[in-house]
Amino acid sequence: MSASHLMHTYAPNPVAFARGEGAWLWDVNGKKYLDALAGIAVNGLGYAHPVFTKAINEQAARLIHTSNHFVVPEQERAAAKVCSLANMDNAFFCNSGAESNECAIKLARLYGHQRGIENATIIVMEKAWHGRTLATLSATGSRKAQAGFEPLMGGFLRVPYNDAAAIEKIGESNSSVVAILLEVLQGEGGLYVADTDYLKKLREICDRKEWLLMIDEVQSGIGRTGKWFAHQWAGIVPDVMPLAKGLGSGVPIGACLARGAAAKVFKPGNHGTTFGGGPLVSVAALTTLEVIEREGLVEHAGRVGGILMESLKRELHGVAGVKDIRGRGLMLGVELDRPCGDIVRRGLEAGLVANVTADKVIRLVPPLVISEAEVKQLVSILVPVIKSFLAEAPAAAAAD
Ligand code: PLP
Repeated sequence: MSASHLMHTYAPNPVAFARGEGAWLWDVNGKKYLDALAGIAVNGLGYAHPVFTKAINEQAARLIHTSNHFVVPEQERAAAKVCSLANMDNAFFCNSGAESNECAIKLARLYGHQRGIENATIIVMEKAWHGRTLATLSATGSRKAQAGFEPLMGGFLRVPYNDAAAIEKIGESNSSVVAILLEVLQGEGGLYVADTDYLKKLREICDRKEWLLMIDEVQSGIGRTGKWFAHQWAGIVPDVMPLAKGLGSGVPIGACLARGAAAKVFKPGNHGTTFGGGPLVSVAALTTLEVIEREGLVEHAGRVGGILMESLKRELHGVAGVKDIRGRGLMLGVELDRPCGDIVRRGLEAGLVANVTADKVIRLVPPLVISEAEVKQLVSILVPVIKSFLAEAPAAAAAD
């Protein structure tokens, strides 16, 4: 193969996919794989969903892009739909998860400025992941991702996850805080789950302090955990909610939703983007939401996710080297006691697409359409891969 002209930002596995159907992918050599990654929690409808494919084909033939200088009816419809599902008031559409978080950060700062707070500060979490733009990288809690890109942006205070007391303490002494930004399930950070009581407590703190509760549902939203949005497990509603990934079924779209006072912060000229919410991507989002609703995929994700969790727990019970199995719905992680990046290669060899995050956590985020039988197949491929890896990978590499 000739030298690549791509910047060296990735080290891709030597597999190129040619087509997909449902929860399955075929590579250019015709080999078939079961997909437990879904383009990193993006392809909720799986591949080649007929209703989705038809809708975006027809829209592409009609009109792909105009500009936010004009009314975009498709964008209005997508906003109305996503806001009604999320119990939010309004939405700003952009193109990625990082941009939806950028919007949230800017919104929180402006909210602070409008209330006379000059050094608006946002509380963020250890192990958080909000993106790779400079602002979102600064909010992200990964030193590995940040290294070399200093100076990072100020205006963030970091606290341990699931520790409401640490936040209360900051609130006592710091009058610049305007918002808390967190994930309900830390996908990139290692599939850590926020406690229900903790989330309720954060809602109460934000109400009392008039801070914005900003819940990043970029990875956990759009049905993945068995609720439309993962925070709904705690019965709370955020003030600001960044979304992306599953919203467009692979067509790049992000959205920042807001409610109450947060929904009134931006005025024309405060924020914008050329591509955000164009006719094609808006139809992709609207159709995704309608298909998920019509096919009952939220409940389905909760049900088959439960089966996946139970089967993994049963099959891996007592296996030395398996430290924990956690997550919710179809957003699960299997934590091993050693770095396990090689699981990805071994999985591909065995016909399974999976991924490893935070060095030691096998992340399973299959398409929401995966069937019960396919979930069982997933387990029957993955468990031997994990067992053979643990038997062969040097135990010396096992840290802590
Ligand atoms: N927020 C969360 C919770 C994410 O998981 C991600 C990506 O993994 C992002 C933000 C950034 O999204 P993107 O890669 O689309 O910029």
